[in-house]
Amino acid sequence: KYVLGIETSCDETAASVVKNGVEIISNVVASQIESHKRFGGVVPEIASRHHVEQITLVIEEALAQAGMTPEGLSAVAVTEGPGLVGALLVGVNAAKAFAFAHGLPIVGVHHIAGHIYANRLEQEMEFPLLALVISGGHTELVYMKEHGDFDVIGETRDDAAGEAYDKVARTLDLPYPGGPHIDRLANKSDGAIDFPRIWLEEGSYDFSFSGLKSSVLNYMHNAKQRGENVSPEHVAAGFQNSVVEVVTGKAVRAAEQYNVRQVIAAGGVAANKGLRTSLAAAFEKKGIPFYIPSLPLCTDNAAMIAAAGTVMFEKGITGNMAMNGRPGMELGSWN
Ligand code: ATP
Ligand code: MG
Ligand code: FE
Repeated sequence: KYVLGIETSCDETAASVVKNGVEIISNVVASQIESHKRFGGVVPEIASRHHVEQITLVIEEALAQAGMTPEGLSAVAVTEGPGLVGALLVGVNAAKAFAFAHGLPIVGVHHIAGHIYANRLEQEMEFPLLALVISGGHTELVYMKEHGDFDVIGETRDDAAGEAYDKVARTLDLPYPGGPHIDRLANKSDGAIDFPRIWLEEGSYDFSFSGLKSSVLNYMHNAKQRGENVSPEHVAAGFQNSVVEVVTGKAVRAAEQYNVRQVIAAGGVAANKGLRTSLAAAFEKKGIPFYIPSLPLCTDNAAMIAAAGTVMFEKGITGNMAMNGRPGMELGSWN
């Protein structure tokens, strides 16, 4: 069973062919980062325009690299939401047109379900599992009893981790997206500023990163007022230490309380070296199997959408020609 995946929720135009929900046959990602860099973030109108320009080429390239024609496909899976409305619409409309033209069923996938299912392209999922979704727009802990059963047990109350990374990077004059730059500085630092750890109420699995972000901004502001030099490495390391300690701490506590067989990480910030090392060490110590996808599967791609879409398709959950982009879509279970 071959499924074509399409993803356009933010600033990557992506298409991919996945076999049986587990094997990548082709995976094409056209990134727009260069176009958004000079604005310091994603500009929605520019994103939509790029998607329109790229989508047909990217789909054709995914089929060409797979050595396939549309006749060999069983379904088309597309990111239905959440994301930028104009960006989502390009992918959804392309998917509808493609599905209609070739008589294929269409499956609308939640972007975060996609990030979670990126893991299945490299590792069998074993239930119950805990997924740590940590990306540009989300930071959540999701408990899964079985395929397509999503129970969000904790989430950010303000900024997502990736958003905080990008904002802190901006105050350090690092290019967008700043996450990888902070990671790089933190890793080569010989010291770290002591920023607060935001744990929230005892027992809570929610996250908050805006207070930490403010602490970093205040620190920078005060140093400037006093005419002191700021070490970008020490700031980056201090910020990263706080994020890593809290995220690792909550993920470990949740994994133990829910007694899961497996913990998986997903999303762009899961590419963070400091976080990967910390999570791997913590779960190793607890004897709980832990996996993170390779870097290209952590950030946005369409293989993850095809992987999730295949399971939905197998469960008989398909959409129709009335499908629309859903910018505020909630992560609902597949039943
Ligand atoms: P969402 O998936 O929540 O809709 P998104 O798709 O924009 O958001 P992703 O593409 O999954 O998010 O991830 C992008 C984010 O990951 C950016 O905020 C970026 O700075 C961050 N990021 C990427 N690599 C790293 C890294 N090594 N360390 C920290 N953050 C990183
Ligand atoms: Mg992105
Ligand atoms: Fe994403």
